[in-house]
Order: sequence, then C-alpha cells, then structure tokens
Amino acid sequence: MEIIEVYNGKKFGDVNNPLLVSCRSGPRVSMPGMMDTILNLGLNDKTVEGLAKKCGNERFAYDSYRRFIQMFADICMGIPHSNFEKILSGIKNKNNIQFDKDLTTNMLKEVITEYKKMVKDTVGKEFIQDVKEQLKTAIHGVFISWNNDRAITYRNLNDIPHNWGTAVNVVSMVFGNMGYRSATGVTFTRNPATGDKIFYGEYLINAQGEDVVAGIRTPQQISIEGKKAQHSDLPCMEEAMPELYKELYEIRDKLEKHYKDMQDIEFTFQEGKLYLLGRRSGKRTIKAAVKIAVDLYNEGIIDKEKAISLVDAKSIKELLHPQIDPKVKKETMARGLPASKGTSCGKIVFNVHDVGGKYKDCPVILLSKEPTYNDIIGIHVVKGVVTTRGGMNSLVAVYARGKDVPCITGVGDMIIDFNKKTVKFRDKYVLKEGDWISISGDTGEVYKGKVPIIPLIISGDFETIMKWADEIRHLKIEANVETIKDALQARDLGAEGIGLIRTEYMFFEPKKIISIRKMIVAETEEEKRKALDEILPYQTKEFEDLFKIMNGLPVTIRLLDPPLHQFLPETEEDMETLAKEIGVKLEQVIERASSLKESNPMLGNRGCRLGISRPEIIEMQAKAILTAAVNVIKLGKKVNPKIMIPFAVSKRELQVMKDIIDKEQKKLEKEKRCLIPYTFGTMIELPRAALLADQLAELAHFFSFGTNNLTQTTFGISKDDFSYHHLYRKSGIIDVDPFSVLDSRGVGFLIENAIKKGKAVQKDLKCGICDEHGCDPKSIQYADSIGMDYVSCSPLKIPIARLAAAQAVILNKKK
Ligand code: PEP
Ligand code: MG
Repeated sequence: MEIIEVYNGKKFGDVNNPLLVSCRSGPRVSMPGMMDTILNLGLNDKTVEGLAKKCGNERFAYDSYRRFIQMFADICMGIPHSNFEKILSGIKNKNNIQFDKDLTTNMLKEVITEYKKMVKDTVGKEFIQDVKEQLKTAIHGVFISWNNDRAITYRNLNDIPHNWGTAVNVVSMVFGNMGYRSATGVTFTRNPATGDKIFYGEYLINAQGEDVVAGIRTPQQISIEGKKAQHSDLPCMEEAMPELYKELYEIRDKLEKHYKDMQDIEFTFQEGKLYLLGRRSGKRTIKAAVKIAVDLYNEGIIDKEKAISLVDAKSIKELLHPQIDPKVKKETMARGLPASKGTSCGKIVFNVHDVGGKYKDCPVILLSKEPTYNDIIGIHVVKGVVTTRGGMNSLVAVYARGKDVPCITGVGDMIIDFNKKTVKFRDKYVLKEGDWISISGDTGEVYKGKVPIIPLIISGDFETIMKWADEIRHLKIEANVETIKDALQARDLGAEGIGLIRTEYMFFEPKKIISIRKMIVAETEEEKRKALDEILPYQTKEFEDLFKIMNGLPVTIRLLDPPLHQFLPETEEDMETLAKEIGVKLEQVIERASSLKESNPMLGNRGCRLGISRPEIIEMQAKAILTAAVNVIKLGKKVNPKIMIPFAVSKRELQVMKDIIDKEQKKLEKEKRCLIPYTFGTMIELPRAALLADQLAELAHFFSFGTNNLTQTTFGISKDDFSYHHLYRKSGIIDVDPFSVLDSRGVGFLIENAIKKGKAVQKDLKCGICDEHGCDPKSIQYADSIGMDYVSCSPLKIPIARLAAAQAVILNKKK
C-alpha cells in the first residue's frame, strides 16, 4: 500500500488527499463476472469530503461513495442488492428522475444516509469507517467469492478445477465517473459475434465499470461501424469523443499485433486521460473465431499453426449447426443486439426453472427483462435467450457466447408481464408462455412462430482452417458408423475410413431383429442356421454399401459383441408377442431368456466368448463381409475390409475366431474364383489384453483400443452408474471424468505397454482409439503423443477430431 501511495502521491485514509483502491479477483483463467469486485475502497464519511474538495467535483465523490457502500455491503455483509435498488429507485421516483446520472449531489447524500441506515438496521452494525478494516474485509470477501454459486457452476461447466483458488489484486482506482470527459467501457478489437474487423465495443459516459457489465444502462458504441452493425441511434465514441477514440484505436492495433489474437480491452477515461484496466484474449463465437484466425493469417500477423490454435476444436460442432433458411418468408416481431451467434426455435419460457416439467422434452427460449444470475448460470439448458435490457457485453451476453447459446439483448420493444406469463413485441404481437418463436443471434431478430432451419456445410473460412489442419496432423481420422446415411455424412465431413462398425446396431433393424430372436430361441442347429440365413443377405447388402461409399478406405467391422439377452424382450407381454411372431410356445421364450440371464452380463458371455460358444454367428458375419467384398471387387472397385474381434484377452481366442473366418474366406475364394483380402485385428478393451499384447499381435495386424471398456475395467467403475463423479470432482478425488478425457496415467499406462509390446512383434501394427475419447481434444493430444495411427469417432465429431489432431501436433511439439 505504501508503494501505491508514493506512486500516486495520495494516502490511504487521508482526509485531504485520499487514495482509493479496488479489490479484484485474479483466477488463473478468466471467469468473467463470476467472482466479486469492490471499487472505490477507502471512502468514508471523512475521506469523501476530502475527495470532493481535492478533485473539485462533489457529485463524483458522493456518487463513488454510494457505489462503494452498495458493493461492499452486498459482497462483504451479505445485504441483498435489491435493498439498495429499492432506496435508489425511491429517491429517483421522489425527484422524478429516470437515470442515475441525473442524481444531484444532495440526492446522493440522501441516498448515502439511507444506505447506511439500512445497513445498520439489517446487520446491527455501522458501516465500517476504518479504511484498513475495509480493505481487510474486502480482500476476504473477494477470496470467499471463489466459492459462490455462480463461480462453482461456471467451473463445473468449464472444467476448471475447484482447488485452484484465486489471487486478490488490490489496485489504485481511476474514475470513469468524474464528469463528461470521463467514461468507461469494454471493447473488442474485432466483432466477437461475426469476426468482422471492426472496432467493436461499448462505453458509458460518466460511469463506472460495473454499469456496463450489469446491463443497467444501454451503452453507446465505440465506432461508427459498430454503431451500424448494432442499429444503434446513440452517438458513438468515434463521433462524440474523436480524439479519445483515436488514442484507443492506436492501442487496439498495438495490442492485437503484440498478443497475436483478438483482444478484449477494458478501459477508463478519467477526465480525458486513458487508462487500460485489463486485456485478455476476447471470448468469441466459433464462427468469429474461424474468421479471425483466417483474417489474422491473411493480414500477416500470425502463421498457420497459430491460426489453427485460435479455434476451439470442441466448439466447431456449432458450425455444423443449422441456420434459418434464407429463402423462407419470416415475420420479424422485434430486433435487438446480436449478442451470441446461432439460430434456434423454441417455446417461450420466462424463467429457467420452468425448463423441466412440461417443457422437459422440447426446446425452449428464455425471455427475460434483465436475467438473474440463476437465469444466467442455467443458460445451457435453453436453446436461446432474449432480454429487454443490456448490451453486447452484459453478463448474459458473455455467458451465452461462452456456451454457444444464441442470445439477443437490448430488445427494448419487448414487454413481459411475468404475472400473466405473456409478452408483447412492438405493441403488435402478444404471445404467451409455450408459444413458438424463432431467433437469430446472427442478426438480432426475433421471429414469429417456428421457422424452417437448414443444415450448414463446411465452406469458406471453416474449410480453410480444416485444410490447414489436414496439412499438419499425423493422426488419421475415421468414423464410427453403421448406416449409409452416417457413412455418407462421415465422408462429407472428412472421415478417412470407418474405424468401428458395431454390427449389433445393425441387428436392431426391424427386418433383422425378428430373425436374430428366432436364432436365439431356436433349439436345433438347423433352426439356428435357418434364422441366420435370413439375416445373411441383409448383412451382405449393408457391408456392400459401406464398402462402396468408402471406396478403398478402411472399413473396420467388429463382430457381434453384446450378450444375447440384449436382443430379447424384457416383459412377459412382449415375450408373448415374440412367441406368436416366430411360432413357438411362450414357455420356450421365457426359458431361453432366463437361461441367458447373467448376474454381470457386461463381463459375461459376450465378445469373442460369445463367438466361441455360437460359431454359427461368426460364420454368417464372415460370409457376409467377404461376399460383400468380392461383390464390390467384381464391380471394379477397391475394398479394404478389416475384421475386428471384441473382448479378447488371449491369442487362443483370436485363433479360434480367425480359423472360422479363414475357412469362409477359402470357401468363397474357391467359389468366386477371386482373392478376397481382409485384415485381421482385435479390440484391446481389457487389462489382460493390454498386458499380453505381444501374444495378441502374433495374429492381430491392428489394435483398436476400446477405451470405454478399458477405462471401466481399469478403474473397476461402471460408466453407467458413475453418477457420483460430481461428488468425486467436488471432493477433489478426480479432476476430470475419465470417461470424457482418457486417463493417460492409468489407462494410458496399459495402452502404451500394449503398443510397445505389440509393435515389437508386428512392426506394422496399426493402433487407434475407437471410443468417443476419439473426439476429445485432450485424449487426441495424448493419442498423438504416443504415436497412435488413428482415432475413430461419430460422424458429426469428425471435424473436431481433424482440428484437434492438428492442434495436438502443435502442442506436442511445444512439450
Ligand atoms: C469400447 O469399449 O471402448 C468400445 C468402443 O466398445 P463399446 O463402446 O461398443 O462397448
Ligand atoms: Mg467395448
């Protein structure tokens, strides 16, 4: 404090020349608005007079003091904000005033007297006058705010460990509320919603920082271009304060070049002098992120690798989200600020708590005057948000952008009646809770009813980033698919083959399930084979189609995996229907279902164990795959079938499976007079398989790590029952859910052992991950770091995996 005093030529608590400070949180990653900040600290009944005299601006001094009391009492004494709002609005109403800025010094003095009285009445103590005591209490209050509900929820949503804690920074104050050459604002070096290169931000004249984020006053735009983009009528800084604007603009360029990224700058002008309060890389929509990355590269500010790093891989799935069909006629009810990109339709609700219940299974859009913190932290459960007040940087806007929820703020023409649960737009449209609306966070428009939405394809800057990612990455990206539709989509999105076909999914089709059930219930060998013969042509056709679509790229087919009971109905009623359908007695179905019951089926007769006990199934599947292959070869096309054995733990099991397949291969080759090549491989899903991988590699030419089962069996935790992982995270036992991010220490230890041992035996052994870890960027980084060959994931996640694989190369190089 002494250093700050000397630097500023003021003294903390001095009645003639007081130093004022702010107490701010300082977590290691930005958590905008989630923790508390106290401004104007050091004011009391005496120093406020000194401040007024010293700066010759009494109104400013008393305005600062009333703000301080309000913030301090709210954060450190637990007095609700609404108590203060009530007093403030009372005095404004009494004096016929609409805006805070019109409060006179005398009115502010009255506000302060009432605030202090209310504080005393509420907590039974006077408002603290000792400035050192104020400082200690404030520091404590800001530390405590690490554990407020907003901050905890934010950390949960953003995978930020709870045990990190925060710093508290004590900083000397500058004032944006010192008159009409003072202002405060937040600005982005580019438009965070679209990525357009316009200086894009908001400011308020004669105000303090929290006025901007709190959404109490509708702020003015910084630049003329920003004003146009926002359809704002208020004068912008470029028009109202041109010299100040010029100074700020120069800093914009300097910061962006220095940090090589779009910046979010908080600033204050105190009587015409510019102070920068902070900067960080600006939060942005994913569409903006892609545009900014490509533009910064084209402007020569960054290279391709940096451009790739500027796009969050997980978020790009939003780019594949639908858009409003431009050809369709729409009825615009109102317009606001396009605070967070995206398009959605949903039923109107006025409170996030209404989202469950009757709206459980349908999309909803939250309409709110000024969202509460509860609304804001619950934003991820709604499909869109529209607010009457607030600007592009109000808390709800920042939060919605972080969660990629479309959001429109500042819709002044929207009047909500919370009692009647109705809303009126422009005095013209009256709607009620549950009515459909559509919104575009791209244009800020609110439309009547449900408008048609069309999917997006990879094009423009997005395509450029994907192309750059493909140039850099080492990992091949394959897809987990079973249907033609998924396979086509996977190819469109850049999949380089199929890494996993779960053949059991194919069996659930209505045409096949009945034959499968017949096969399970059958008593004689002949009946079983007859049922399988019914399935064979369907399976063959399905594989043929997939081979054609993949046109020579790998198609990895996993033979039947789950225990057979999964294909039988569970209730007696359904069993009766089945018995009738397949012409057997009900007792036979019941008896078969009960004989297949296991107390721990997922560790029971499944995978290759099932294949060994029911070889006729494997024969049928092998025949279907190889027949499909030969049929496609005969069309003059290339095929690359890879047959994969699930749940193996020994070479012997693989040998039994391979013998069955090879027998079918020989038969067919002779019959069709054609060589039918296939690659034989295994899943590694169990610790024993990983530990004895050298033995499996004597037969397997590829290992596909089933990291779902491998995680379950390594941890001894059932994924389906792992609902207590929240508790585990909260209590610090685990930092991240191992089913979301591959556990590189434990499960990874087994994987690395398996790769090493496997490659010692089979030099060209190909290794990959085929569980959904295959689209998690951290797991992909790990896969790249240990030299895996590919990852496989569901089709819509392919672009995420492509980008993450490129980022992995960049990150692993830095290591
Ligand atoms: C796995 O275990 O990781 C795997 C891909 O198999 P499934 O998810 O089908 O059990
Ligand atoms: Mg598995």
